Amino acid sequence: MTRRDFDLLIRGGELADGTGSPLRRADVGIAAGRVCVLPADSSVTAARVHDATGQVVAPGFIDAHTHSDLTTLDDIGQAQAHAAVLQGVTVEICGNCGDSAFPHPYGDFAAFARAHTDTGRANHLVSLVGHGTVRGSVVGHDDRAATDAELAEMCQVLDDALTAGAAGLSSGLIYTPGSYADTAEVTALAAVAARHGKPYVTHLRDEMSHVEAALDEAVRIARDSGAALHVSHHKTAGKYAWGRTLRTLPRLEHLRAAGLDVTCDVYPYTAGSTALAAMLPPWAHDGGPEQLLKRLGDPAARRRMRVSIAEGVPGWENTVGNGGWDRIAVASAARHPQLQGRTIADIAAQQGAEAIDVVAQLLLAEDGDVTIISHSMREDDVQRVLSTPFAIIGSDGVPKPGLPHPRWAGTFARVLGHYVRDLALLSLTEAVRKMTGATAARFGLTGRGVLCDGAAADLVVFDPATVTDRATFTEPLLPPAGITLVVVDGTVVVDDGAVTGARPGKLLAC
Ligand SMILES: [Zn+2]
Repeated sequence: MTRRDFDLLIRGGELADGTGSPLRRADVGIAAGRVCVLPADSSVTAARVHDATGQVVAPGFIDAHTHSDLTTLDDIGQAQAHAAVLQGVTVEICGNCGDSAFPHPYGDFAAFARAHTDTGRANHLVSLVGHGTVRGSVVGHDDRAATDAELAEMCQVLDDALTAGAAGLSSGLIYTPGSYADTAEVTALAAVAARHGKPYVTHLRDEMSHVEAALDEAVRIARDSGAALHVSHHKTAGKYAWGRTLRTLPRLEHLRAAGLDVTCDVYPYTAGSTALAAMLPPWAHDGGPEQLLKRLGDPAARRRMRVSIAEGVPGWENTVGNGGWDRIAVASAARHPQLQGRTIADIAAQQGAEAIDVVAQLLLAEDGDVTIISHSMREDDVQRVLSTPFAIIGSDGVPKPGLPHPRWAGTFARVLGHYVRDLALLSLTEAVRKMTGATAARFGLTGRGVLCDGAAADLVVFDPATVTDRATFTEPLLPPAGITLVVVDGTVVVDDGAVTGARPGKLLAC
C-alpha cells in the first residue's frame, strides 16, 4: 500500500481565497478535513484528484442570513434541504430576524445542536439567538414592556446561549412579540452580546418610509451597548423610500470611519418575502397567534385593520400602506396551492371581495401560516448595497413549501453570474470575499471563510463562465448551473452538481 499525501486534490483551478486577493493558480490538497494550499502542478498523490481546470476554487460560501433553522429537522423535502448546498453554501447562519429555534421549541443551544447531529445534514449551521423567541418564552405574546425581573431573565437566557456557542443576538423589530420591546430592552440584551464580543444583528423596526429613524435606533443600541452592529437584508423598500440607500449607505460608511463596527447583508433581488400576518398592524397580534385568529374572524376588527393599513399606525412599518396589495403575492399556503403565485389584489378582484377579507379568510384557513413575496424594492438600491464593501451576501432564504422566494436556491449563483459576470457590478474576488472571509469575520467563525493552510476544508469549485441561478418565482427551487464540487469538512457533499448524500454538517459553536 502506498501512502497518499492527500484524501482529495483539487488541481488546475484558480484560487479565490476569500480575502479579496486576485485570482492565482494553485492546487488545493485536503487531508483529515484540513486545507493545504499547494503550488500549481505540484507532484503530490491523493486518493482522489479533481480536475478544476478553468474553474474557480473558493472557500465554501457562508450564507449570512437564513431562516433554515428547522429545514432539515422538519423534513420538508429534498429540494428545500439541498437548495443552499447546491449553490456552494457550506455554512448557513440561522436564528435571524429575532426568531431562533431555542429556547423554543428546542430548550437550549445544546438541544438544538443534538437534534441536528441526530438528523444529519450536508452543510453546517450557525445560529444567532432570537430576541423575539427569548421574549416570547419569558414575557409571552402580550403588547407590554418587560418587567425588570423578566428583562433579567431574558439576559440570562441569552447569556447561556452565547456561552454555549450561539453567534450573536438577532432582533426582528417589525415582528411581534419582538416589536413590543422598546429601545432600552434591546440595548440591555445587546450589552450581553457585547460582553461576549458577539454582534447585535437586526431586522430594523422599519425598512420603508421610516428606514432612517429605524437605522438611528439600531446605531443607538450599538453605541449604548458596545455591541458590533449588523443590519440584516439592508433595503429601502416601498415607493416612499426608493433611492434612500443614497443616504443610508453613506451614513453607515461615516459611522465606520468614526470607529463603529457596523456591517450589513443583502440579497440580489428586488422582492422580499415574509409572513402574510406581518402585513397586519401590531395591535392585531396582541396576546399571540390565537388572539390574532380570533380578531381575523371578527368583522369589526377586520374593518379596524383595514383602517390601520390605510392610515398607518405610529411606529409601525405598514408594508401594504407603502405599496399596495397588488405587490403582495402568496408564496406558501399549504391548503390553497391554487392561490400560490397570485397577488392578494388579484385574488380579491376575482372574488369580488375586499383584500382584508381575502387575507383574513386565508389566514384563518391556514392557521396563520402563510408566506408572501413582496415586490417592494428598486434595482438601483439593490445594486448600491450589493457593491458596498461592507455589505455581505445573505439569501434571507425562507424554506417553505409552495412557491418560496427563489433567493433560497439562487442567491449565490445570481451574484456570481448576473451581477459579477453579466453586469460587472463587482469583481469576482470581491464577491467571493463577501460570501466567505468577510462573513466569517463578522460572525466570529474561526478557521473558515479563507482558504489557507490549516483551514477547515469547506470549499466550492465553480465555473465562472457558466455559473447562473435558475430559480425563478414560478420554479423557485431549480438548482443553479455551474457549481460543480462542494466540500464540507473534507467530505464531498456535491459532486458534478448533484448531492452525494453525505452528511458531515452540524451546528457549529462560535
Ligand atoms: Zn428579516
